[in-house]
Amino acid sequence: MRQIKEREEPTELKYLRFLKPRRELTIKENQYYLKLLKGFEGEKEFDRLLQQELKVDCLVINGLLLEHNLTVFQIDSLLIFQNDIFLIEIKYFEGDFYTDDGRWHVISGKEIKNPLLQIQRSESTFRQLQQSLKVDYAVNASLVFNHPKFHLYNAALDLPVIFPAQLYRFMNRLNDVPSEISQKQETYAAHLVSRHITDSSHTRVPDYDYDQLKKGIICSECLSFLSQKENKWVCNKCGKKESFEHAVLRAVIEFRFLFPNRKVTTKTICEWCGIYDGQKNARRILNKHFKRIGNTNNSYFV
Ligand SMILES: [Zn+2]
Repeated sequence: MRQIKEREEPTELKYLRFLKPRRELTIKENQYYLKLLKGFEGEKEFDRLLQQELKVDCLVINGLLLEHNLTVFQIDSLLIFQNDIFLIEIKYFEGDFYTDDGRWHVISGKEIKNPLLQIQRSESTFRQLQQSLKVDYAVNASLVFNHPKFHLYNAALDLPVIFPAQLYRFMNRLNDVPSEISQKQETYAAHLVSRHITDSSHTRVPDYDYDQLKKGIICSECLSFLSQKENKWVCNKCGKKESFEHAVLRAVIEFRFLFPNRKVTTKTICEWCGIYDGQKNARRILNKHFKRIGNTNNSYFV
């Protein structure tokens, strides 16, 4: 297998992950954060499985957001074989669920959105897209549950679902699909990737304000604040150590993501990172990695 498009962290997850340590998330934001985080973990888990187990000649496109006939739909993993396409929706549900007359419930009884409807909608819209592009791969769609602690009671035998215990057999089935990738499939894969929607009109951006956010550098492992110890940053909670430069660069990337309209100056970055001692060091890092505009005290970096 060859990966054509890497999986990216969902933008909404990024906002919430950056904000969580700096201001209290509302209950709803926190629930949404945990849901996105878990979903992303499940997707990465599935990527690892593909990387380890998929030996067949095929192309893999991850996290594709497409639009056709005014319908926007997301495909978690899209696999292109010589004559076949597999659309995969990944659900990292944990615990016991049951279905009853086409409705899906948590074991406690609470109804959830039927995950099959989503994949059916994606499959149907994808077929229409293929027709409009005049390509004729056979399209297969599967809903994959890859959390080891997932169980579904009352599952019908003909559901297009791969359960945790079937994952390796699913990989074997894919490995048995006859396939040899040529220019044709590569061109099609590149075309699909070029249709990937990156505009942010579908993104829910949380409310936040610079002055209300706690300043400092956040541990990449456990989201606690790091302390500056000479030329290193150290996490007092999990023990992670990071070089001064690496940690500051991470914080600059975060700052630019959260505040794309604010100028990156040495003063702002030192304030953002909570650097009281080592401003020269910070300036040196900014000079090294960014382009400085202006020479005075008002200079900033792009
Ligand atoms: Zn930590």
